Amino acid sequence: MNSLLQVDAAANLAPQLFNRVLQNVARRTEQRGHLRSPDADVREEMLRASEGLLVALCEGASLSIDREEPPACAHCRQPMVFKQNRDFILRSTLTGEPANVPSPYFFCENCHKGCLVLRDALGVNRDGMTESLAAKVGFAGTVEPYEPASSTLLRELAGVNVSGTKVHSVCQQFGAMAESLIERGQAADVRRVAPNETVYVMVDGSMLHMDGDWHEVKVAIIFAGSDRVAVSKHRAELVKRQGLVTRGTREVLGPMIYEALRSWLPLNRWGEPAIRGRVSPHRMVYL
Ligand SMILES: [Zn+2]
Repeated sequence: MNSLLQVDAAANLAPQLFNRVLQNVARRTEQRGHLRSPDADVREEMLRASEGLLVALCEGASLSIDREEPPACAHCRQPMVFKQNRDFILRSTLTGEPANVPSPYFFCENCHKGCLVLRDALGVNRDGMTESLAAKVGFAGTVEPYEPASSTLLRELAGVNVSGTKVHSVCQQFGAMAESLIERGQAADVRRVAPNETVYVMVDGSMLHMDGDWHEVKVAIIFAGSDRVAVSKHRAELVKRQGLVTRGTREVLGPMIYEALRSWLPLNRWGEPAIRGRVSPHRMVYL
């Protein structure tokens, strides 16, 4: 049976790593001179050892990639050529610290572009983080400013070492992705309403500290009347809605709302959003 991960090498390494965990935990306890909080030592040492296992698994996966069967170039689809093995940086949720992992490096003679196939297969971002780590870092960076996200949420609570600068970098990448999804109307749960159903647009603003200064962020929520449902006696929830957000002026938000509404309104017989009367994006803002 073919396996994506070659576990044999890592399996041989496991007892050695486990033994090192026991030795290190014992040494830490001796140095401290008491037995309180042994879980913290075991946890930290296990995560370090797991990082070693992860690297061993990746090395196995790297060796199993056939150098004689090059991948097709992502740009021109021509077969690439194997050049050499190259290391790349991998950061995982285990410790967050950079580890060197080897990958075959293939090159397209046509486009003069290369690729590290294992790196691409693992889906690591440009900072070397796995998707799992990037998701945690992005989450931490949205809950707290970058430095406390790094020192408190990631280092103290998760045991993951990622600097505030890297948290900033990941949040910028997620921000660009979110912006693109919002622009394409894909960051929403949109449905076309029935002809007599009401669509609501609620607009608000908030001051946020970003990039060293305060900025007003304007937000809008679009939802259909019947998607507001009672979940208890005094509480209702929106089961579908679309959120819009911009750092621009109201003249920017207005056309964004106008464009978004086109996906909510019923279609007329010509397949166009059924907007009655003369409604302009700017008038909608000032109403
Ligand atoms: Zn190419």
